[in-house]
Amino acid sequence: MNVLVLNAGSSSLKFQLMNTKTREVFTKGNCERIGLTDGIFGHVEGDGEKVKEIVDFPDHGTAIRKVIELINEHGFEMEAFGHRIVQGGWHFEDSALVDDEVLAKIYEVAPLAPLHNYAEAGVIEHCRETYPELPNVAVFDTSFHMGMPPAAYTYALPTEVREKLHIRKYGAHGTSHRYVSARCAELMGKPIEELKLISCHMGNGSSICAIDGGKSVDTSMGFTPLVGLPMGTRCGDLDPGVMQFIMNKYGMNIDEMLNVLNKKSGVLGVSGVSSDFRDLETAADEGNERARLALDMFDYWVAKVVGSYAAAMNGVDAIIFTAGVGENSGTTRAGICKYLGYLGCEIDPEPNKKRGEDICISTADSKVKLFVIPTNEELVIARDTRDIVNG
Ligand code: AMP
Repeated sequence: MNVLVLNAGSSSLKFQLMNTKTREVFTKGNCERIGLTDGIFGHVEGDGEKVKEIVDFPDHGTAIRKVIELINEHGFEMEAFGHRIVQGGWHFEDSALVDDEVLAKIYEVAPLAPLHNYAEAGVIEHCRETYPELPNVAVFDTSFHMGMPPAAYTYALPTEVREKLHIRKYGAHGTSHRYVSARCAELMGKPIEELKLISCHMGNGSSICAIDGGKSVDTSMGFTPLVGLPMGTRCGDLDPGVMQFIMNKYGMNIDEMLNVLNKKSGVLGVSGVSSDFRDLETAADEGNERARLALDMFDYWVAKVVGSYAAAMNGVDAIIFTAGVGENSGTTRAGICKYLGYLGCEIDPEPNKKRGEDICISTADSKVKLFVIPTNEELVIARDTRDIVNG
């Protein structure tokens, strides 16, 4: 089946037209600066040619029309739409065929992820109106985590408040954790039901997931994607008292405070250099101490969460590194593994130099296996779409 996978952000729309059987990607790209002037329409053709055009995208509807124009120009067939939805809230434990009720639920939980869900729901509406004959499937980043045990997802808040407002840990990056854990089991040649895995999705946003028998049993992101590890620009875990202290000192309101925590914190805030690990590694090598501290903090946090998840599962068979940092930064992987000797993790420096491919980076003697597995969220979305459409 040819599925157009759509991943809408507040001002962007990533797309990929893929055949689920052959895995062939016919075209993929990104519409950037939606809602602003000088939008960028970037796309890669099947032969690898990269094209960038300046196109104004006043809204997501214009962007999706442009994507479909491109698909039609090339004469590619499109049989279904698969949508990445960041937040499924308490409604979705699995991917779902979109009807009026599903769409209403996506809107209902949108206040939990306002930057994403409204844009994503808008794109679904557009696809349904313009192509009523094609099915739409919603694949939720949160659904992989909905089976976590209550002890892992419950916040220690008054029950009436928690229950009335549906406050709990929802997690994120579920599609990525699901893909890399299944792929890891394949690479290990074992049924996933028999494995305890820890998946480290480390990109601009980062989260770690404990996966026992193929099910997420804990994850580092929470009610929102602000918590857990320090990220590119997000603060990660923070004493809530710090917010009150800063707000009083600087006369900030809560929106201004959250803007600092979301956009000006993390490794960017600590280093004052960049949110990009490549820049931080260069600056740290040149002697920038704040950049070094930001990188050290990150490694330390990942190792600390990995250790807590090994405890939560009473063991771990393999640790997986994925996403921009996890797939590309051998120094970050080595920095994390320095803490994990007690678990029986031994990294092999040679394969650890490689990037961009599925690879085992632990020594033959390592008790816990270490893998780099490039994530493929689009493939999961396309396959879920096919399976749901085919019933
Ligand atoms: P993602 O959010 O998964 O697209 O990851 C993006 C992040 O990956 C960038 O901001 C960089 O911090 C990081 N990254 C990409 N390539 C490299 C690299 N070669 N070395 C270190 N970090 C990298």
